[in-house]
Amino acid sequence: MPLVSMRQLLDEAAKGGYGVGAFNVNNMEQIQAIMEAARETKSPVIIQASRGARSYSQDRFLYHLMVAATELYPEIPVAMHQDHGNSVATCKSAIEQGFTSVMMDGSLMEDGKTPSSFEYNVKVTREVVELAHAKGVTVEGEIGTLGGIEDGHGAGGSGLEHLTDPDQAAEFVRQTGLDALAIAIGTSHGAYKFSSKPTGETLKMDRLIEIHKKLPGVHLVMHGSSSVPKDLQDVINQYGGKLKPTWGVPVEEIQLGIKNGVRKVNVDTDNRLAMTGAVRRVLAEQPEKFDPRDYMKPARDAMKKVVAQRMVQFGQAGHAGDYQPLPLSEMAKWYK
Ligand SMILES: [Zn+2]
Repeated sequence: MPLVSMRQLLDEAAKGGYGVGAFNVNNMEQIQAIMEAARETKSPVIIQASRGARSYSQDRFLYHLMVAATELYPEIPVAMHQDHGNSVATCKSAIEQGFTSVMMDGSLMEDGKTPSSFEYNVKVTREVVELAHAKGVTVEGEIGTLGGIEDGHGAGGSGLEHLTDPDQAAEFVRQTGLDALAIAIGTSHGAYKFSSKPTGETLKMDRLIEIHKKLPGVHLVMHGSSSVPKDLQDVINQYGGKLKPTWGVPVEEIQLGIKNGVRKVNVDTDNRLAMTGAVRRVLAEQPEKFDPRDYMKPARDAMKKVVAQRMVQFGQAGHAGDYQPLPLSEMAKWYK
C-alpha cells in the first residue's frame, strides 16, 4: 500500500480508543526498526522527520526509504509526517517531497525559537491547511509552546511557561480547520524533561483533560513524550556515557492521555537512548570490532524492542489490518 494519510490513521485510532506512536527517523536502520516492530505487533505507524533529519539524510533518501518500507511491509499503514515545520515554505516542500502529513508549528516564529502571537499562528496554520488539504495531506498545529530544545527547535525553558489555554485552543481549531492539535502541558523536548518523577504540578494532565472536554472531537498530540527509562540511561552510563539523571513522561500518564483524546504520541529520545546504549556496549565489550554492522544491528534491535513495547502500551498493536487506507486523492475529495 502507498504511504497513507495521517488523518485517517488518527480517525481510526479515535474509533478504536487507542494512540499511535510517532517515531522520529533520520536513517535506514531506524526505519527498519520501526517497520519490524510494526510487523511484529501488527500496528499502523507514523514515521516522522524533523527539519534537521531532512537535511541530515536528504529528502530523496528519506522518501525512497519510506517507499521501500511500504513495499516490504505492505500490510502496515504508514504515514510520513514532517515534525515541527517552522514555516509555510517548509511544509510546502515536505508535501512536494511526498510527505503525507505535515506539522505547521506556528506557536513559534520562523526561527523555531521565539514564541509567536495567536494571530500569526492562525494565519500560517490556516495557510498550510488550505494547501495541504487540497492534496489530501494531513495538518498538525500547535498551540502553547513546549519546553526544551531538540534539533535546534524549541523555545527552551521548563515547559510550564506557555501552557495551552483551553479556550484559545478551541478558537484555534475553529479558525484553522486543522486535523490534529499539539498541546503544551509541561512536557519538553530532549532527554532532560523533568528533574524528578513528574507530579501534577509539573506534568499538567488536568489541563489535557480540560482541553479534551472542550474539544472532544479533536485529535490531540503529546510531544516530548519519551519516558526516558532508567534502564536505558544506565546502559549508556555503564559503558562510558555521561548522562545526568533525568525523568521523562511515565507510560501510565500517556495512557491516561490516550483515554482523554490523545491520538498521536511523539517518541524520539527513548529510541536514541536505546541505539546509543547498544552501540556503546558493543564497542566497550568487543573493542576489536570495526564493521559498522557489528554495532548497527544490535542498535537496530534495541530500538525495535522499545518501539514494539510502546506500540503495545499505546494500544495501536493489532490494528494494522482494521481498515483500507484511502489514497490521498480520495482524502482531498473528503476535505472538500
Ligand atoms: Zn515536538
